[in-house]
Amino acid sequence: MAGPIVIVGAGMAGANAAKTLREEGFDGPLTLVGDEPEPPYERPPLSKGYLMGKDERDSAFVNPLEWYADAGVELRLATRVERIDRQARRVVLVGGQELPYDKLLLTTGSSPRPLPVDGAHLDGVRYLRTLADSDRLKETIAASSRIAVVGAGWIGLETAAAAREAGVEVTVLEMADLPLLRVLGPEVARVFADLHRAHGVDLRLGISVAELTGDDGRVTGVRLGDGSHVPADAVVVGAGIAPNVGLAQDAGLDVDNGVTVDEHLRSSDPDVFAAGDVANALHPVLGKHIRVEHWANARHQPRTAARAMLGRDEAYDRIPYFFTDQYDLGMEYTGYVEPGGYDEVVFRGDRESGEFVAFWVGGGRVLAGMNVNVWDVADAIEALVRDGGPVDVTALADPDRPLDSLLKG
Ligand SMILES: Cc1cc2nc3c(=O)[nH]c(=O)nc-3n(C[C@H](O)[C@H](O)[C@H](O)COP(=O)(O)OP(=O)(O)OC[C@H]3O[C@@H](n4cnc5c(N)ncnc54)[C@H](O)[C@@H]3O)c2cc1C
Repeated sequence: MAGPIVIVGAGMAGANAAKTLREEGFDGPLTLVGDEPEPPYERPPLSKGYLMGKDERDSAFVNPLEWYADAGVELRLATRVERIDRQARRVVLVGGQELPYDKLLLTTGSSPRPLPVDGAHLDGVRYLRTLADSDRLKETIAASSRIAVVGAGWIGLETAAAAREAGVEVTVLEMADLPLLRVLGPEVARVFADLHRAHGVDLRLGISVAELTGDDGRVTGVRLGDGSHVPADAVVVGAGIAPNVGLAQDAGLDVDNGVTVDEHLRSSDPDVFAAGDVANALHPVLGKHIRVEHWANARHQPRTAARAMLGRDEAYDRIPYFFTDQYDLGMEYTGYVEPGGYDEVVFRGDRESGEFVAFWVGGGRVLAGMNVNVWDVADAIEALVRDGGPVDVTALADPDRPLDSLLKG
C-alpha cells in the first residue's frame, strides 16, 4: 500500500484532490484536515443565492458528508495545522498531534485582507469568506436599512446586489475610478458601474477611506479622506484576499504571492504540492506563474496535483475562467490579461443592450473574452485564446461570424 497522503485545507480544492486520489486508485491512508467546522463547500453561493436565501445550505457542499467515510477519507474538521516538519515528513496539528505523510498537498486557500484603518474591528463590520460569514451577513442585511460596502471588487459588488435586492440602501466606496478597473479595464468596468447605479446603488469612486466611525462599539459609518461621512448600519469590507502561505513559508518552501509551484503543481520540495487559491503555478500556455482566485481553478487544479502525487505528471494548462451573477447580469470570463496589458477591447453586440461579448485583444491575439447574458460561447472563447491569433477584429465584432470560423488553425 502506498504511503500516507495528507491534504491541508478542506475547501473546494482539498475535497476535489481527495476525490481524484481515490478515483485514480490511491488506496493508502488519506487525511483531509480543515480548520472550519463544515465539510468542504463551494463559496460562490455565499455572496449570491445562499446570501439571498434562495439556495439551501447543503447545496454548497462539494460531497455529501457520507462520501468521505465511504471513500476512506479521514476528514478532520475544526482542526488546524500548526506547522509542517519537512525533515520528519509530518504535519503538526494545534494541540501537538502529528500526522506522517509521504506526499503533502497544501490547499489552504486565502483570507480577506483586513481594512487597515481605525474602527475596522467595530461590531457591525463584516467580511465574507465562510459560510458563517454569509450567515452573519444575511442577518445583518435583514436588520439594516443602509449599508456601506468598502471595495468594488467581485465580492463587494455581489454583496451590494444582494443587499439591493433585499431593499437595503447601499453605498459602495471604491478607491479606483471605476469598479473592477484593474481586472477589466475602463471599457468594461463601466458596464458594472452603470449596472449598479441603475439598481440604485450610490457608487462613489476615486475615494479614500479614513476610518470607520462607531458609537458604543458599533459601527455607524465610514469617514472618507475628504472628511465627509457616509452613515451606515453595517459596513461590508471587500478589500481583496491574501493567500494563506504561513505554513509553507515557515516550512521554508518557495513562496511568492502564493506557494510557488511548477506546471505539475509541485513546490520547491518534490513531496509537497499546492493547488487552488494558494498556488502560484507556472502556466505553460501563458508562459508565466499565475495565481488564480476562482472556483474553476479550485475545481480542476487539484486533479493535476493529485495525479502528480501519484507520479502521473501532466501540465495544468487550463485557461483561467470565472463567472459572476449580479441582478439580471450573468457573465463568464475566459482568459488572462495583466492590468492594462491589452491594446483594445472589441465588442460583439451592443453594450447597452446588456447582451454582448467583449474581447481583450493584444498583439493581434485574443487574450480574454467575457460573455454577458450570452451563453454557450465560453468554449469558443477559450479556443480563440489558445489559438494565439492573429485575429481579424472586424470579424470578431460581427455577431454573424461564428467564433470558431475565426480560429487560425
Ligand atoms: C463569497 C465568495 C464568492 C465567490 N464567488 C465566486 C464566483 O462567483 N466565481 C468564481 O469563479 N469564484 C468565486 N469565488 C472564489 C472561489 O470560491 C475560490 O477561488 C475557492 O473557494 C478557492 O478554493 P480553495 O479550496 O483553494 O480555498 P478555500 O476555499 O479558501 O479553502 C481553503 C480552506 O483551508 C483552510 N485552512 C487554511 N489554513 C489552514 C490550516 N493551517 N489548517 C487547516 N485548515 C486550513 C481554510 O480555512 C479553508 O477552509 C468566491 C469566493 C468567495 C469567498
